[in-house]
Amino acid sequence: MLIAGNWKLNCNIEEAKHLSSRIIESLDRKKLNCEVAIFPSYICLDSVNKTIEKTVISLGSQDCSVHKSGAYTGDVSANMLFDTGCKYVIVGHSERRIGKLESNNDILSKANNALESNLIPIICVGENAKDREDGRALEVIKKQLDESVPKNSNKNNCILAYEPIWAIGSGKIPDNSSINEMLNMIKGWLSNNKIDNSINILYGGSVNKSNAKEIFSCINLGGLLIGGVSLKPEEFSEICLMAN
Ligand code: PEP
Repeated sequence: MLIAGNWKLNCNIEEAKHLSSRIIESLDRKKLNCEVAIFPSYICLDSVNKTIEKTVISLGSQDCSVHKSGAYTGDVSANMLFDTGCKYVIVGHSERRIGKLESNNDILSKANNALESNLIPIICVGENAKDREDGRALEVIKKQLDESVPKNSNKNNCILAYEPIWAIGSGKIPDNSSINEMLNMIKGWLSNNKIDNSINILYGGSVNKSNAKEIFSCINLGGLLIGGVSLKPEEFSEICLMAN
């Protein structure tokens, strides 16, 4: 299992170092049965990398460029992130799909760049509230998978994250049968596309210490992607220690 903490647009360098130190302090190595990764903003990556050196925590970036190099002011490439110590990169988070109008094709390019740079992409997919109400959730996710997952993905080089958009930051979560239905569909999609179906699939959306135990009981769950609660070191660590 992987428990991933997406810090989004939070923390300056000092705060990021402090937050990562508090997570390290709260995690009891002996009782930890999962991998933990944190995703600070670009400018904090180097400092956080030094803080988590020789600990159980891995480093990831919240995004990368669709480009490999060149005249793309403000972009950061997958290769640069690998060079900074990242193991993972989140691509296709709904806040970028919606807020930055990123297409499935952009996400596929980012995921391919990550693979070429030896970074593990965490490719996010998720339906909005209207898609779910209209009974189109499975169809919408299938299209995102068709168009944004590289066909050479496998359990060692890629991770998927199912994040219903309506559950992110809202306090609402799908019941376990809806999560299981989606995880099963994704497994089936991987098999149908001759892609390793043991790829880890994370769930993300309003996870906290009160609902994590129930979510962990989902069959085929490969871990969690956590936003808000990843900024609360004790609660985040408590969830990590529940994983097995
Ligand atoms: C996210 O943004 O990926 C997320 C899961 O956020 P939250 O946990 O705050 O819902």
